[in-house]
Amino acid sequence: MFENLSERLSGILDKLTRRGALSEADVGEAMREVRRALIEADVALDVVRSFTDKVRNRAVGHEVLRSVTPGQQVIKIVHDQLVEMLGSTARPIDLEAPAPVCIMMVGLQGSGKTTTTAKIGKRLGDRHKAKTLLASLDTRRPAAQEQLRVLGEQNSIDTLPIVVGQTPTQIAERAMTAGRLGGYDVVILDTAGRTHIDEPLMLEMAEIKKISKPHEILLVADALTGQDAVNLAKSFDQRVGITGIVLTRMDGDGRGGAALSMRAVTGKPIKLVGTGEKADALEDFDPARIAGRILG
Ligand code: GDP
Repeated sequence: MFENLSERLSGILDKLTRRGALSEADVGEAMREVRRALIEADVALDVVRSFTDKVRNRAVGHEVLRSVTPGQQVIKIVHDQLVEMLGSTARPIDLEAPAPVCIMMVGLQGSGKTTTTAKIGKRLGDRHKAKTLLASLDTRRPAAQEQLRVLGEQNSIDTLPIVVGQTPTQIAERAMTAGRLGGYDVVILDTAGRTHIDEPLMLEMAEIKKISKPHEILLVADALTGQDAVNLAKSFDQRVGITGIVLTRMDGDGRGGAALSMRAVTGKPIKLVGTGEKADALEDFDPARIAGRILG
């Protein structure tokens, strides 16, 4: 039977009956379990290494309090370090810019970009009373623009009228103009995805960024793709520059390792998590909850 990390750490450390401070050897065995659990949770190897180093430094010499068992104390250190590396607090979408504030959504095909675009539009309307315009710049997949139009209609969010034959940059330009003239607070651009990162995709993203001057560029990534999501975040950040990450499919059975890696590798905050297909299945990123999930 698979034991979660908390149980395994208690199992190892609570055998220590000696009182005093945790020794290097006590902590060493526990760190092997932490390393194994993080690798199972799909955390990138160099992130695992720096994580266990930090925990080891905090734990060795840590006084073992009489009231609590050593296992519990190390679990707390691991938990606190996870929360710290995940970014400590939730970071909301930043709307502090002259209207219309542009949010550019980027990511691979199938990551949940269009669904998330509508979810964010709905949330901004519901919570911030923001008048929001959604625009699909995906001219490669014929049904993409229509998909966003339908989602907008279902959730009472305006969408930019579809004009057949326009390029993504032309649509971006039209969206920003419509945003200004229509008195919108926010314009969300749903860019086209690909099955993988390629040069034309990056050039297109750079071009759209130049035209629309987004205040936020949010990478939408599927949490279940683990290491691929981390590499994706790295590439998009290097080439286009991202301001935050939305992790989708957090309702799936992924262990949350992708969240830790993405944050550590890019230094960019995870702002929101997708937790289902419905328009309201979007939550603020909660580092403590993800830490709990990784710990099991
Ligand atoms: P896009 O190609 O990146 O625009 O992806 P879509 O927005 O079309 O989403 C692809 C599929 O993933 C759709 O069936 C969505 O309903 C589904 N989806 C998106 N976000 C989530 C999520 O957070 N959880 C789950 N379970 N499904 C999601």
